[in-house]
Amino acid sequence: MSHPTDGNCIFCKIVAGQIPCFKLFEDDATIAFMDINPVNPGHALAVAKGHWPTVDVIPADVLAAVARTAQQVAKAVISELKPNGVNLLQANGEGAGQSVPHLHIHVMPRRPNDQVALNWDYKPGNKAEIETIWKRLKAVL
Ligand code: AMP
Ligand code: ZN
Repeated sequence: MSHPTDGNCIFCKIVAGQIPCFKLFEDDATIAFMDINPVNPGHALAVAKGHWPTVDVIPADVLAAVARTAQQVAKAVISELKPNGVNLLQANGEGAGQSVPHLHIHVMPRRPNDQVALNWDYKPGNKAEIETIWKRLKAVL
């Protein structure tokens, strides 16, 4: 199966076997491996084999395959490591904290008081503002 690749991309190099990884799983469209900067023990990544930077450009079937792989890894993390919880996180663009522009889903085990800055407190929104944005988005869906 052929995939788009980018010779300068670290994840493309991992997919091509040019740099090593702690590989967990692989199928035609995806690969999963351990994150080398884990937020907690067991932090892993489900990665498309092809080079698509973000959610808006990756083919839907490949995204679905990455989600399936993330689920497989999450099941293993949950059953084997028994974390307090697991976040699946997928960043798009620098503003979202994406550092590797090759689509991936983080599987992040959580531990009590781990200080991972992902959770937030509820703050009620402005209904009129929500409705205005809702109309704009609905119009393009
Ligand atoms: P993001 O910031 O969402 O783009 O996440 C990129 C993730 O890739 C970070 O959590 C990095 O620690 C991880 N990462 C970068 N290079 C490697 C590598 N060679 N092997 C494993 N994980 C990596
Ligand atoms: Zn890539």
